[in-house]
Amino acid sequence: MYYEVFQLHAKLLKALSNPKRLEIIQLIREEELPVAEIQEMLDLPQGNLSQHLQVLRAAGIVKTRREGKQIYYSISHKNFIKASDLFREVLIERNKDAVSDIAFKKMADLVPLTSDPVCGMRVSPKTSAFAYKNTGDEFYFCGSGCYERFKKYPKKYIRAVAFA
Ligand SMILES: [Zn+2]
Repeated sequence: MYYEVFQLHAKLLKALSNPKRLEIIQLIREEELPVAEIQEMLDLPQGNLSQHLQVLRAAGIVKTRREGKQIYYSISHKNFIKASDLFREVLIERNKDAVSDIAFKKMADLVPLTSDPVCGMRVSPKTSAFAYKNTGDEFYFCGSGCYERFKKYPKKYIRAVAFA
């Protein structure tokens, strides 16, 4: 059993070893989300996203719930979020001087929740994967899709920002 657990552990990490899949875990860390919303937040083609979700589901990392035509995804165990945060903390600490891109935001700031200016999702600067700083204002995003959209047309979204 002792060695079997290492094998199972390795198998689990294999399912996690993809940046998009890690981002999906960040997205649904607080609340379950329907596939269409995850797709928009990540800006991934449908087929591509389905594949990632399938891997996560097969590994038992996410679970699904059907409501009408919608399928909602959520994290199956809170420890997956904890583990992800612990790894990110180490990486952010190690890279805090080298990395100037603020998308790689340090997790230490425990600022209250704010809203993603693109999709309106509640995000915390502590856990959000993407941040954008501009003339003293800081914006946080649920995922790369919203972040890229914001960078393309910041003016379109800045006006709509409501800090919670
Ligand atoms: Zn968003």
